[in-house]
Amino acid sequence: MRILVTGGAGFLGSHLCERLLSSGHEVICLDNFFTGRMDNIAHLRDISRFEIIRHDVTEPILLEVDLIFNLACPASPVHYQHNPVKTIKTSVMGAIHMLGLAKRVHARILQASTSEVYGDPTEHPQKEGYWGNVNPIGIRSCYDEGKRVAETLFMDYHRQNKVDIRIVRIFNTYGPRMLANDGRVVSNFIVQALQGQDITIYGNGLQTRSFCYVDDLISGFISMMDQTQTVGPINIGNPSEFTMLQLAEEVIRLTGSKSKIVYQPLPGDDPQKRRPDISQAKEILNWEPVVSLEEGLIKTITYFDRSISSGV
Ligand code: NAD
Ligand code: UDP
Repeated sequence: MRILVTGGAGFLGSHLCERLLSSGHEVICLDNFFTGRMDNIAHLRDISRFEIIRHDVTEPILLEVDLIFNLACPASPVHYQHNPVKTIKTSVMGAIHMLGLAKRVHARILQASTSEVYGDPTEHPQKEGYWGNVNPIGIRSCYDEGKRVAETLFMDYHRQNKVDIRIVRIFNTYGPRMLANDGRVVSNFIVQALQGQDITIYGNGLQTRSFCYVDDLISGFISMMDQTQTVGPINIGNPSEFTMLQLAEEVIRLTGSKSKIVYQPLPGDDPQKRRPDISQAKEILNWEPVVSLEEGLIKTITYFDRSISSGV
């Protein structure tokens, strides 16, 4: 099949392109290189089935494809808050353009949605039926509300135009190829620990997240795209929940770092807890994560250690 991956040069997108190519597909990686890097896909460039297009999803595009994975959107709070208006445009106009394309060429299309649609949740763990607790006017809203509107557009194109959609709600995912300056907690803590800098915990460190290793997440994406039982939305993530303090201690242990933990103010609207209920993914997709936090952190630490030493 010929498969379009928007945001294909980013962290998750580059792993997805790699997995699809290894299954024998033709892959078109579309990216505006805001947070994506050519380095992430450099090792794929010699494959004749792989094509790169520099394009912004806020502009329409015509392509002949069988499947679309729509990942284009900065995911780290630092990057999506850098130009919040652009972030909303990317989610909303990007969804409209990609859904329009899917409609025209009859391609199945998967939306990379997020646990942020649940906001600062009042239900725990989060099931897909929970409508969320999202501030519409805060500093995270450009991302959260943009992704919520994108889900609405996907469901409306499905109901109104019979577009063959899939929606996955991704919970915090980490692994090699995250940007060192990305601002997300796993990359921050690892880079700080490896460089002997203070480890910055925001707030009291008792807020929780549930971390999924990238390889597990990509398997979840593919299982969702391949099945015809549900259009979603479906939660994809690892239900093992940790406080940020536990994560910091684990990173210090695994790197053998002498870094000290320091506390900084909690950013606005930072969710207090987050853990996916993945019963639907288990039942319908026959999917569940298999990589433990320790195992995934070791692989990610090895990646950052190498990229810091080689100056990449
Ligand atoms: P990332 O920032 O590494 O990747 C996003 C990619 O999209 C980058 O390559 C970037 O250059 C590209 N992009 C951004 N705006 C674009 C535009 N207007 N046009 C074309 N390309 C554009 O982030 P990621 O972690 O790989 O996330 C990928 C997707 O998964 C995003 O949609 C994100 O919202 C979603 N997601 C990720 C996580 C996670 O924990 N990694 C969690 C929830 C949802
Ligand atoms: N966080 C932290 N120190 C950092 C970066 C993040 O304590 O250097 C916290 C952040 O406040 C949040 C959690 O870690 O509570 C996860 O942050 P991230 O930006 O990775 O993801 P998100 O908040 O979008 O889930």
